Amino acid sequence: MPDRFVDVRDPTADELEPVAETIRDLRVYGVGDPPPPVILLLLGREIHETARSKGFYKTEFLRTPTGLPAFNTSLPAEKLALIHEEVSETLKALRDDDREKEAEEVADIVIRVLDYAAWRGIDLDIEVEKKMAKNRTRPHLHGRKF
Ligand SMILES: [Mg+2]
Repeated sequence: MPDRFVDVRDPTADELEPVAETIRDLRVYGVGDPPPPVILLLLGREIHETARSKGFYKTEFLRTPTGLPAFNTSLPAEKLALIHEEVSETLKALRDDDREKEAEEVADIVIRVLDYAAWRGIDLDIEVEKKMAKNRTRPHLHGRKF
């Protein structure tokens, strides 16, 4: 059997549950509230680990003139610019009427957003639900023209 067919199956829900349970335990949510889902959190962590392993965070810490490591405060802005790049690539695919490329670029947007959130400690399972709850109360077109 060729190497590419080596069993690298996705973990089962039963195998993931202990991991999810640990993450739930680390979160803060109201007593009696149902535990929030961890789908985006787990996916984001995997994406972020992959991005790190591919060198996308090699400039996270820079050397000061005295040789000490210091956080690269421009890196979050760089990451946001790269999300924007993927949005622009999606627009190009749309203009080219290339549905396959459009789908790939939308996936790139999601990957970069989940990477950013995982890196910045933003729990998107919770934040998306909070924002959707807010959006559900907003008026038609959120009170705007379009
Ligand atoms: Mg892309």
